[in-house]
Amino acid sequence: MGIFKKEKKHSTPIEWKITKRCLNLILECAKSSFPNEFGGLLRIDKEKKDTIVELVMIPGTISGDAHAIFRLHMLPIDYSIVGTIHSHPSYSNYPSDADIQFFRKTGKIHIIVANPFNTNSWKAYDFNGDEINLIVI
Ligand code: ZN
Repeated sequence: MGIFKKEKKHSTPIEWKITKRCLNLILECAKSSFPNEFGGLLRIDKEKKDTIVELVMIPGTISGDAHAIFRLHMLPIDYSIVGTIHSHPSYSNYPSDADIQFFRKTGKIHIIVANPFNTNSWKAYDFNGDEINLIVI
């Protein structure tokens, strides 16, 4: 973008995947939390470490301001947690400045689900807020 040539990124060995079941659960939770935000954590499979298999709800909070939720609940020291998911009640699934600041502090992959919370309204980002490909399996 702009006048700067984008530097070639380090080749990342991980090709992230998520199970359809897990994605559907995320979409359902985001939808049922609307108009509030929904926030949760992403857990990978014990063997297939590039595959997100589980949505971990943050204890005590089903919905609210996702940014506040993540501030209040530090990510657990649990190496099976690779990132976060939160919803946007708006139609934008792009990370806000606050999102990117948060992404930079923690996690490798972050999903944002926007209204209308369907299979086309989500995107995945790396710690830097750059969009990454997440394959649904
Ligand atoms: Zn956000």
